[in-house]
Amino acid sequence: MKEAIATIKKTRSIQEKYGVQTKKAFGQNFIIEPKVVEKIANAAIASKDDLVIEVGPGIGALTQFLCEKSNHVIAFEIDERLPRILYEEIGDEHLEIILQDFLETDIDEVIETRRKEGQRVDFVSNLPYYITTPILFKLFEAHTHPDTITVMMQKEVADRFLAKHSSKEYNGLSVITQYRCDVKKVMDVSRHVFMPKPNVDSMVIQFTFHDRYHVQNEPLFFEMVKACFVQRRKTILNNLQVWLQDKELVQEMLSRAKIEPQIRAQQLDLEDFIRLYEENYEKICTRKSESGS
Ligand code: SAM
Repeated sequence: MKEAIATIKKTRSIQEKYGVQTKKAFGQNFIIEPKVVEKIANAAIASKDDLVIEVGPGIGALTQFLCEKSNHVIAFEIDERLPRILYEEIGDEHLEIILQDFLETDIDEVIETRRKEGQRVDFVSNLPYYITTPILFKLFEAHTHPDTITVMMQKEVADRFLAKHSSKEYNGLSVITQYRCDVKKVMDVSRHVFMPKPNVDSMVIQFTFHDRYHVQNEPLFFEMVKACFVQRRKTILNNLQVWLQDKELVQEMLSRAKIEPQIRAQQLDLEDFIRLYEENYEKICTRKSESGS
C-alpha cells in the first residue's frame, strides 16, 4: 500500500493539492488515524473474495484499507469533487467509484448484478451522520441485503441500536433492528481522530443479518412497534389505544399475550412484541381496515 491517507499530514496535503475543503452539508469528517481504519476494515471483511460496498469514501482514508483486503470494492460518493482524487490517490484496480446519492440507489439491483454466486457482501462506512438512520433502514428493508454491516456513527445513536429492553436507550428502532440483525460493538472511537473534529464521540458497530423471525406482514408489525413507543412515559395500553382507537380491543389483546396493561413499551423484549402481534394479528388487521388507516 502507498502512504496511509488517514493521517493529518496526508489529509492536509491532499486538500491543498486538489484545493478541496470539507463540506459540512455532506457530513464530511475524515478519519486521521490509520489504526482506526485498519481495525474497521479487519472487522468488516472476512476474505479477499468478499464484495465490499462502502458509502462515503471521502478522500479514501478507509477505502484504501478496504481495497487491500478485498478484490472488489464499490464506493458510493455524493461529492463530485472526490472521485478524481480517489482514483489518483488510491489508484487500485479493485476500486469502483459510483458518483451517486446512496439514498437514491437501488441497492437490490447493485447487489443482484454484482454479486457472484455464493459471494459474501460486506457493507462498511464511516456514515455521514446526518443520514445514519435512513441509510441503515434502506439496508434493513432491502430484499437483497448485505451479510454484514459495519459502520461508524455517533455514540448515542449506536447505543440505541445496541440497547436491551428496560434500558433508557431502548426504543422502537432497537426492537426493529434486533428483529432483523444481531448487533455488536466493534470499538469506541474518540472525536480526536477526525478532521474536522466533531462535537461528539463515535462508535463502530456491526450488524449481522439473521433469519430467526418471520412475522406475517412485517410493515404492520413495525408500525405496531413504533406506535407502542410514541409516548415513552405512557403505558402500553395508552399508546396502543391511540393507535387502534379501541380500548376494549387493546385490553383484550394485552390479556391474550399475557402482558400487563400498565407497563411501558421499553419493558418488553422483542419476543414479547412478536407474541403481542402474532396472537392478535387478525384482530389488528380487521381494526385497521375498519378505521381505514
Ligand atoms: N470515509 C471517509 C473517512 O472515513 O474519512 C469519509 C467519511 S465522511 C464521515 C462521510 C462521507 O459520505 C463524505 O465523503 C460525504 O461526502 C459522503 N456522503 C454524504 N452523503 C452521502 C450520500 N447521500 N451518498 C453517498 N455519500 C455521501
